[in-house]
Amino acid sequence: MILPRVDIDFNKIAHNVRQLKVLYGSKGIKIIGVTKVIGGDPIIANILVQNGIEILADSRIKNILKMRKAGIRAQFMLLRTPALSQVEDVVNHTHISLNSELIVLQELSKCALNNHVVHKVILMVELGDLREGIMPSEMNTIVKEVLNLKGISLIGIGTNLACFGGINPDADKMNKLSSMTTRLEEKFKITLIMVSGGNSANYNWFQASKDVGRINNLRLGESIFLGREALCRIPIPGLFTDIFTLVAEVIESKRKPSKPYGEVSQNANGQIPEFADNGLMDRAVLAIGMQDIIVSGITPKQNIRVLGASSDHVVVDNTKANLNVGDTVEFDLNYGALLRALHSPYISKNTINFHECTSIL
Ligand SMILES: *Cc1c(COP(=O)(O)O)cnc(C)c1O
Repeated sequence: MILPRVDIDFNKIAHNVRQLKVLYGSKGIKIIGVTKVIGGDPIIANILVQNGIEILADSRIKNILKMRKAGIRAQFMLLRTPALSQVEDVVNHTHISLNSELIVLQELSKCALNNHVVHKVILMVELGDLREGIMPSEMNTIVKEVLNLKGISLIGIGTNLACFGGINPDADKMNKLSSMTTRLEEKFKITLIMVSGGNSANYNWFQASKDVGRINNLRLGESIFLGREALCRIPIPGLFTDIFTLVAEVIESKRKPSKPYGEVSQNANGQIPEFADNGLMDRAVLAIGMQDIIVSGITPKQNIRVLGASSDHVVVDNTKANLNVGDTVEFDLNYGALLRALHSPYISKNTINFHECTSIL
């Protein structure tokens, strides 16, 4: 297999999906599979569907189209609030979208009417993280307008926390979403079937809550693919945290000084780096770089230390590992590094346990 590569264990993906479904299902919460970190890869998306996921969500229509063209049987949700310039594609290619702008909802409505379809919408509520969302004081006005729009169907409300502002989806925030649900239902005599409380950062709230109120839906990416909650990145018991492994090859292994020598200016990243002088050390260079990964987001599985990187090289401290030219090094990846790695055309993807858990599409 061509290096560098990412090994992807399909059995472990299937396991994590099933576990999360059972866990959240125990308190009446359904999970949506978020596919943006895998770029809408149809084969991985299919594992989610085969293990009980009914709705797949992505922030990019391109990824949704990839999955639809591959024949993945699911409902598709657009996660990023639609751009005005996108409404035609949103209506044509997705079933559900998350919304916060009335003008966009009006255009979705027109477009859906023209195309003789009904597009489902969730209204996103701002609860303090300050990315997308309608201010709670505006909800009445917007719901009233949306209920008058033909071609779109208001199926629920939702919120997104812990993304921009790092605000915890705690009991207080979830209670606010629950009570808003009930209040809107009573005021407008409607039923909101989906109350989508958040993402992988909602795990701690979920575990601590006896009663999850009206929250009956979460949109999960990181928990499925990395097996962790997203507030402190603690592993979720019973899940695999090593579905993905990055493998890179050693292209130089030498004993050199530990401190660069000569006159110091900026390096490839525009920084003036500082290194301690510990005399001679064993160093190795790997054939992978910032084009492929976020260097701060990779953790070696061997006893080496990443010293730095440029576009196409990673330099490591080889004092303890004794790596030679041609050897390979394995790394765990965090969400950002995984996102970059799976979208790098220079990294090949190697599937493990493929046949055990997928049928051909
Ligand atoms: C990315 C995203 C998610 C999934 O977040 P994870 O932390 O990966 O579970 C959920 N909702 C929205 C709106 C998103 O953009």
